[in-house]
Amino acid sequence: VNVDAKLSLNRYDVDEEAAHIELKEPDAAPDFDREFDKLVLACPAGLYKRDADGRTSFDYAGCLECGTCRILCGTTILDHWNYPGPTKGVEYRWG
Ligand code: SF4
Repeated sequence: VNVDAKLSLNRYDVDEEAAHIELKEPDAAPDFDREFDKLVLACPAGLYKRDADGRTSFDYAGCLECGTCRILCGTTILDHWNYPGPTKGVEYRWG
């Protein structure tokens, strides 16, 4: 199974006005790095990234709304996790 090919079938209506997931500032989360690295491994869409210099980044735009990050890390590093508003977010297509 080619995961990238499957993901490319999805359509997204990204809510540019309100991020449905936001992270805390690293200084406000004592275990930020350890928790973040769990999500680098676990997010099926690969939205949590750490580059070669150790910098972290996250982009909610490709979120599959699976809830994995919410279950794994809860409020340790997530400021909030909400479903996108009506008509926003991922639209799965299996074709
Ligand atoms: Fe990734 Fe799922 Fe969290 Fe979305 S809900 S950011 S796809 S782990």
